[in-house]
Amino acid sequence: MKPSPEVQQLIIDTKKQLEHLRVLGVEHIPLDPAPVSTPTPNVKPPSDVRETGIKTPTEKPITLFQTFAPAPEKLTPSTETFEQIHAEIGDCTRCPLHLERTHVVHTEGNRKARLMFVGEAPGADEDAQARPFVGRAGQLLTKIIEAIGLKREDVLIGNVNRCRPPQNRAPMPDEAATCKPFLEREIAVAQPEVIVVLGNTALKNLLDTREGITRARGRFHDYKGIKVMPTFHPAYLLRDPSKKRETWEDLKKVRDYLDSTAKP
Ligand code: URA
Repeated sequence: MKPSPEVQQLIIDTKKQLEHLRVLGVEHIPLDPAPVSTPTPNVKPPSDVRETGIKTPTEKPITLFQTFAPAPEKLTPSTETFEQIHAEIGDCTRCPLHLERTHVVHTEGNRKARLMFVGEAPGADEDAQARPFVGRAGQLLTKIIEAIGLKREDVLIGNVNRCRPPQNRAPMPDEAATCKPFLEREIAVAQPEVIVVLGNTALKNLLDTREGITRARGRFHDYKGIKVMPTFHPAYLLRDPSKKRETWEDLKKVRDYLDSTAKP
């Protein structure tokens, strides 16, 4: 059986690391779990390491793969304006969703907001009015925002996709991938402190995760250094009001975090 791509990568990384240790003078690795020492480059390794490869008690153990762990990506602040981004989007035809939309629906709200909400894509009301979250789900979102002591105008509200998918189906991965960079550019302009992602599709597309909303909700995740709280989509709450309690718990965590970091 062919090893999975992850195992193949692990083998490549292990070979690289072993070659690196060999160059540093380590000639073998003991089979017991005692960690192997790594001498500082350009410093002659102690003779016991060169001869046996076994640690001396005073030396720092190494973690074999630490040199290959990618550094977490950080947001690069942008000096663009929303107007420039929206002008570039224009009368967009980059993906098939343009075929049935009436309006491109841009992110709206306070561009200096500390808090941003990100949904999936416009529905019929949003498509007709060219504004995000103005239908029934949007009215519930407005109440959720007010429940944490803010007004709708205080926050930023947007979607991963800006065109309404036919029959309100979820956007396809390539449709989301085409539109997401514009949302990311707006995030880099506004630099909110917290982003609340609403529902599975927004969660998966913004965070590139396979984790579902039920498991991911209720704890902070990271998007390039910005705190992200996934919670249920208001349209889902309209279908299952029993989930409002969990949504309220999630939003209280957001409110408490914003209160704890508020400038006096
Ligand atoms: N649902 C969304 O995900 N976004 C909207 O703008 C409206 C409904």
